Amino acid sequence: MIRISALAASVKPSATLAAGAKARQLRASGVQVFDFSLGEPDFDTPAHIRAAADRAVAAGQTHYTPVTGTPEVKAAICRWYKGYHGYEVAPENVIVSNGAKHSLHNVLAATVGPGDEVVIPTPYWVSYSDLVSMTGAAPVLVHTTPESGFKLTPAQLRAAVTPKTRVLMLNSPCNPTGTVYTRAELEALADTLVDHSDAALLSDEIYEQLTYGDAKPTCVATLRPGLRDRTVTVSGASKSYAMTGWRMGWAVAPAALVKAMDAIQSQETSCPSSVSQAALVAALDGPQDCVAAMRAEFAARRELTCGLLRAIPGLKLPVPDGAFYAFFDVSAYFGKAFAGKPVGDSLGFCSALLEQAHVNLIPGSAFGTEGFVRMSFACSPDTICGGLAKLADWLATGR
Ligand code: PMP
Ligand code: GLU
Repeated sequence: MIRISALAASVKPSATLAAGAKARQLRASGVQVFDFSLGEPDFDTPAHIRAAADRAVAAGQTHYTPVTGTPEVKAAICRWYKGYHGYEVAPENVIVSNGAKHSLHNVLAATVGPGDEVVIPTPYWVSYSDLVSMTGAAPVLVHTTPESGFKLTPAQLRAAVTPKTRVLMLNSPCNPTGTVYTRAELEALADTLVDHSDAALLSDEIYEQLTYGDAKPTCVATLRPGLRDRTVTVSGASKSYAMTGWRMGWAVAPAALVKAMDAIQSQETSCPSSVSQAALVAALDGPQDCVAAMRAEFAARRELTCGLLRAIPGLKLPVPDGAFYAFFDVSAYFGKAFAGKPVGDSLGFCSALLEQAHVNLIPGSAFGTEGFVRMSFACSPDTICGGLAKLADWLATGR
């Protein structure tokens, strides 16, 4: 018997990836599944990006690259920040990794360890608390509510900060709630953090190109002079450019921290994929109308999703201003039984729903918030209409 380490034993598998795998399994057995589990655009990666990868392969760009990324990809990221956010960054501030999830891991591995605390507002993206726990640091969860738009307030932050606080993790636009903080709200949080701690700000901005209506993304590092010295910006290509499988994420950070992450990445993965880096250059430097077209499509699906969910009795849905998730309150149905199966929490709700109606949602408990479930609307309008009709019918059977 090979013994499993304490680290491995303590890690929960990603609930989103596990739910996606369950849907695939059911589908393989011939069942029609309405799968709203994974936050993954259903679009193909735009053709000019795929063509750049083809050219890179043909040109023999199939070797190890520098650990933190090629000079070309880092220059493209610097250009993109200058153009999109007016944020001037140098190549020494950039490290490209195998997806933003890997970037988050690198940042946490390079900044925290046993005895340290990392403040995470709930609901949080499913992997945050495990990524923190894997370093030996303690996640400090601060609960936000629909009444505050699921936004952390400066007073809550002040109350959560201790001398052990090393990092505050923020995610706007947020997965799972779709919450987008205003510039003024982020300024107030940044000021509070600076006034009450010497902690770093880890800002996950991966949904920055997916906001709707009047909501605007903010690059937190640019909010105040000097804030960039204690801020790490994480983003990636998965969501905006429909590039989940290419595994391209990055961190923008002070040079000394990039150096620390460089050392970690050199020992863990050597470098990100050479071919994917060439594709990322084309994504960031190339025509951006593909992003606008996908955003418009997500905006239409958001309208469709919100309209259909609103029409179902008992559900409460805060409007998502960004990303591609609806995070809604199903607790009015707790205490009922479905086909004789009592449902008492979000996990029980999602497993009964999948088993009986073949509709796949993620329980709010995976994001640190009970009573809610998450639906990804990064899927076809037909799937949205069919799946939500099934959900409505199934809810009506609750006794
Ligand atoms: N951050 C957030 C908030 C996410 O939703 C995701 C989803 N995949 C990631 C980071 C990681 O993305 P990836 O590793 O595909 O770049
Ligand atoms: N971030 C996506 C989600 O929340 C993809 C899955 C994952 O990386 O966990 O569904």
